[in-house]
Amino acid sequence: MTVITRFAPSPTGTLHVGNLRTALHNWMYAKAHGGRFLLRIDDTDRARSEERHVESIRADLAWLGLALDGEERQSARFDRYEAVFAELVAKQWIYPAYETPDELELRRKVLLGRGLPPIYERSALALTEADRTALEAEGRRPHWRFRLSHIPIVWDDLIRGPQRFDAATMSDPVIRRADGSWLYLLPSVIDDVDMGVTHVVRGEDHVSNTALQLQMFHAMGATPPAFAHEALLTGNEGKLSKRLGSLGVDHFRDAGIESQALVALLARIGTSDPVEPVADAAPLIASFDFGRFGRAPARFDEGELAQLNARIVHQLGFDAVADRLPDGMTSAAWEAIRPNLSTVAEAADWWRVVEGPVDPADLSPDDRAYLAQAAAAAASIDWSADSWPALTGALKETTGRKGKSLFLPLRLALTGREHGPDMATLLPLIGKDRALLRLAASG
Ligand code: GLU
Repeated sequence: MTVITRFAPSPTGTLHVGNLRTALHNWMYAKAHGGRFLLRIDDTDRARSEERHVESIRADLAWLGLALDGEERQSARFDRYEAVFAELVAKQWIYPAYETPDELELRRKVLLGRGLPPIYERSALALTEADRTALEAEGRRPHWRFRLSHIPIVWDDLIRGPQRFDAATMSDPVIRRADGSWLYLLPSVIDDVDMGVTHVVRGEDHVSNTALQLQMFHAMGATPPAFAHEALLTGNEGKLSKRLGSLGVDHFRDAGIESQALVALLARIGTSDPVEPVADAAPLIASFDFGRFGRAPARFDEGELAQLNARIVHQLGFDAVADRLPDGMTSAAWEAIRPNLSTVAEAADWWRVVEGPVDPADLSPDDRAYLAQAAAAAASIDWSADSWPALTGALKETTGRKGKSLFLPLRLALTGREHGPDMATLLPLIGKDRALLRLAASG
């Protein structure tokens, strides 16, 4: 059996971090099993679906590195939905109902008032052909409900374990509106059947939909896929935050977050495996297992992401970042500067330090005298070898300085800053000419 998963967003907005996580897990599961990962655009709602959102969904998945093995669109499949619908109506799995929203609301209130669960009591099933003709003559158009079999619905969820719903406590779901438009439930089942989806991975907000959809798979005579419902994401505050709903790829990219960092975090939060700074998805995929997912909400912490990002930036090779580095910055410079960065963009700051000009340091007369000596020493060391140990070694001998008083004035004069990349790697990048000028300017 080839594993086939799908990520099925509605193109009514941009993807947020919760959606990205669901997409990632679908992709990882497929890849872990040599399977296929599909993007399914759920665009049956033509008024709210927009092409620019379809494009941003594709771009976001590409940025994350989730290559698609296929793309499907619900709007291209209306004929198929119509055919299955006709078949299920003929088999009486689907029936027309004529209540208006106001009538349904009133009944709901009456039932609740009597302390009863507000379940649709199927009055439409009792209508005769003549009743229906009369209602339609009044100008009423039916909406359509799926007739649930009142049996227990059970499945073994890959994350939540054994699940059980009593269909008798559920309303027959509306699957199609009076204007002919589709609700999400049935088209999704038809697609999953037709596209051979073997595993449905989605948020636990869909658990009760799954109960309903299992009966639809049955009505279509199809074997249902396996289901994995993941606990939702929460923010730092420990509750579902509005902020998370607004964080998408643009936000992360602007903040200098590498896609690998987001992947490494989203792959592991909410599981019993540790979050690790791996720049390569392969080990994450190899260890991916729904059995490791917890039932508690997964906590998404932007601070943790930033730290993870820095640790991943420190591993990135020159080729992976070259197109984002300032002109002229070499592989040696990248490797020298990299350990000091939280984001790749910060490399430009350090490259400015290398290229100069740097602000002359504000120093005591003592240190100025020391730097004048340093300028002289720098003129006579061998710059083709390790210049920093050569310079500091010579100065240690001639001045008797050591530790901070030996190193810090040099760093200040050479870089204009108190902290930064290792001077042993930075000084060769600054080079003899610039170093002499900077030492002389502070001396
Ligand atoms: N379009 C649905 C959603 O975004 C798809 C759910 C599913 O994965 O079946 O919630």
